[in-house]
Amino acid sequence: MFEKLQEQQPGALLGLLIAFKADPRPNKIDLGVGLYRDETGNTPVMRAVKAAERHLQETQQSKSYIGREGDLAFVELLKPIIFGEGSELIDKTVGLQTPGGCGAIRLAADVIATASPDASIWLGTPGWISHNLFFEYSKQRIVEYPFFDLVEQKIMFDKVLEVLTSAPEGDVILLHGCCHNPTGVNFTMDQWRQITDLLVERNLVPFLDLAYQGLGNGLEEDVEPLRHVLSRVDEAIITYSCDKNFGLYRDRVGVLYLMSRNPEHLKIAGSNAAACAAPSWGMPPDHGGAIVRTILESEELTAMWKAELVQMCARVNGNRAALAEAHPDLAFVKCQGGLFSTLNMSKETAKALRQNYGIYFADSGRMNLAGMQPSDAKTIVDALITEGVLNAL
Ligand code: PLP
Repeated sequence: MFEKLQEQQPGALLGLLIAFKADPRPNKIDLGVGLYRDETGNTPVMRAVKAAERHLQETQQSKSYIGREGDLAFVELLKPIIFGEGSELIDKTVGLQTPGGCGAIRLAADVIATASPDASIWLGTPGWISHNLFFEYSKQRIVEYPFFDLVEQKIMFDKVLEVLTSAPEGDVILLHGCCHNPTGVNFTMDQWRQITDLLVERNLVPFLDLAYQGLGNGLEEDVEPLRHVLSRVDEAIITYSCDKNFGLYRDRVGVLYLMSRNPEHLKIAGSNAAACAAPSWGMPPDHGGAIVRTILESEELTAMWKAELVQMCARVNGNRAALAEAHPDLAFVKCQGGLFSTLNMSKETAKALRQNYGIYFADSGRMNLAGMQPSDAKTIVDALITEGVLNAL
């Protein structure tokens, strides 16, 4: 039974985290794993989360099962945050709570594989490698296309349009809703409009993965593209993570929303998703969803959460500004958003930066902008110059 070793899933980033913790150098900088960190290097429990946990501890009467769809009050309360207060999309979407954004994508992959086994999934590169894993696992055909030029730090928009023009009807186009992982780039609104036109014309299904709402430019700003796409298409898949914007990482809080303008199809979509969830995890863990529900049920806690998220977002953008200021060739970092940007460097250079300076980039050159302090910008730039990633000033 256990003779054949399965190919390993990438766990390199967690390996980096362990190496970083073990590194005795006091000036080490962790730009590796994708976690928000505050000015002390901690990934804090948000104040609103603490308050919601206290409330739950005092008031929760039972921990009995809830059901395959999870906490539907939580799923509904998130809708106005994503789709907009009073949005027509609220009635055109059905949602299921999932174990994190990963669970939502895993479930979406199964839903697509069941409903549309011949559809290919189109993924831009560089992208988030876990997307490939989920679709490979559900035996979905993946088509990769070049999305971003790391040297130029530019979206290859012509290529994106070419792909959308060549994809067969019914195929699924995965788009990062905001804060692209790993490049931090986003389409301009004009580009989003052009993409949407093609999605509609060619009857392609948008799959919008939204894992960082509020950490790019703000809660409302970050969903403007998503709302535009959804306002025009008939069907869509939306995967959502509360793990970053509520700081709930290990509690694994996500939602899969399916959207259809046809009420019958919407019912079927929800029922199919629940059928796919049952053999995967039975029902999702409750605690994290209950925390988010408790926050969103309270005006006071919602305001507290939003204010802290604004601070987190400002801190990341402050770090972006500091790096951009420290070297003219890093000016692009300021125009990107979310936790990540990726520099064009080899795996060997990333290793040298770790070994020689205690600066932990991912092997791909991805850096987590939340992992630094503004005062680290010069140290990082000096190391990048010495390793030949940047020209001398
Ligand atoms: N989607 C993207 C683009 C991500 O970067 C991540 C996490 O890194 C996720 C989804 C899933 O997040 P989680 O499973 O931690 O909620």
